[in-house]
Amino acid sequence: PVRVRFCPSPTGNPHVGLVRTALFNWAYARHTGGSLVFRIEDTDAARDSEESYNQLLDAFHWLGFDWDEGPEVGGPHAPYRQSQRMDIYRDIAGKLLAGGYAYRCYCTTEELDERREAARKAGKPSGYDGTCRTVTAEQQAAYEAEGRTSIVRFRMPDEPLTFTDLVRGELTFTPDNVPDYGIVRANGAPLYTLVNPVDDALMGITHVLRGEDLLSSTPRQIALYKALIELGIASAVPAFGHLPYVMGEGNKKLSKRDPQASLNLYRERGFLPEGLLNYLALLGWSFSADQDIFSISDLIEKFDIADVNANPARFDLKKAEAINADHIRRLDVKDFIAACEPWLTAPHANWAPEDFDQAAWEAIAPHAQTRLTVLSDITANVDFLFRKEPVQDEASWTKAMGKGDPAALLATARANLAAADWASGPEPLKAAVLAAGEEHGLKLGKAQAPVRVAVTGRTVGLPLFESLEVLGKARTIARIDAALA
Ligand code: GLU
Repeated sequence: PVRVRFCPSPTGNPHVGLVRTALFNWAYARHTGGSLVFRIEDTDAARDSEESYNQLLDAFHWLGFDWDEGPEVGGPHAPYRQSQRMDIYRDIAGKLLAGGYAYRCYCTTEELDERREAARKAGKPSGYDGTCRTVTAEQQAAYEAEGRTSIVRFRMPDEPLTFTDLVRGELTFTPDNVPDYGIVRANGAPLYTLVNPVDDALMGITHVLRGEDLLSSTPRQIALYKALIELGIASAVPAFGHLPYVMGEGNKKLSKRDPQASLNLYRERGFLPEGLLNYLALLGWSFSADQDIFSISDLIEKFDIADVNANPARFDLKKAEAINADHIRRLDVKDFIAACEPWLTAPHANWAPEDFDQAAWEAIAPHAQTRLTVLSDITANVDFLFRKEPVQDEASWTKAMGKGDPAALLATARANLAAADWASGPEPLKAAVLAAGEEHGLKLGKAQAPVRVAVTGRTVGLPLFESLEVLGKARTIARIDAALA
């Protein structure tokens, strides 16, 4: 059975690249009926933080991911935080050393720099040159007597290494490009290069799906895996699939530090998890040639790593918003109402909390649902209902009034609205404004603009006559009067 993993390092805020990787692993696990292992790669005490760990968990819960093993749920390979697995890594590093798969390297940073520079000048490969591969026990003792410290370095095979990437097909790496590499620091701390494949082996991972930025570590990890197999620690090398880069503005690789990359930004703006995931799934994958919008369950049903595209994907905020808007439309209205709640109740400047009116909100909600792109826009769209006075905005006035005599139009509209039937839905209200427009030689669009600004304070918003209906006759008339005064 398929066993995939997501294994973020808890540094900084979660970003969209990480979420896409998690999504593809999760979807693949669910598609195949396999398992998803969630592991925390927190062996870098200087960069990892508990705050970031908590943010990761919170983000994955919000996105709706679940995992079969890992934090909160436990599992047969616990613990799932690498910081709690140091003894395991120490033990395995010892076995790799004893088996000759790794060796102690006593070269100092200065020596390494000097030789690298010389190699570069001579046009030779500038990776580690293998000096300590053949250190004898006597030399070793002498180095230690000298006070040198050592790192543990993995011995790469001398032949080229070939593997078939699930996304990119067959790839070959020559030894020159993959020199021996460090797996344990001089202070005894194990490195990502060791702990990541070791845990993949111990946890029985069958498929490693991760970003293209990690492609260069794959030949190293495969070689290490082979050593673990010979030592009886691993059973089979997993399959690897590298997900394409995501390009941001100006066709540059989207970086973690790019504001557009921050997951929190999408949460704060009111993306729905399913809208965001739908969009992120399209970064390197497609549902079908003519369908961009799909549900999570459709995604799970169709997702196969073999369909991931190797070409870089382009991050397109406008498209993400359009997809999110579509998902907002698909909600049951009661779910839409619930989804907006955080924006209506959180502190904001649009109205005083005690003026919020749940019944009015529920009456207007269906009209808002068909218009929002992101949920955070809800406050500005409904604030006219909960403010004592509409937003006062000179620019809106100037824009709505344009040429002509808006005061005369407003006065007529007021009279017609005062005489209209307010108990029969928005149609009579529309007829009232339409008639006022006719009297002043204005089409409906032009005629309703001053009414909208007088009543809502804004030039754009929800359908006007439905808005007036919910606001009610008395408040509508009073606001037009105030505007006329
Ligand atoms: N902890 C690594 C990272 O966050 C995981 C890389 C991998 O998937 O192997 O980059």
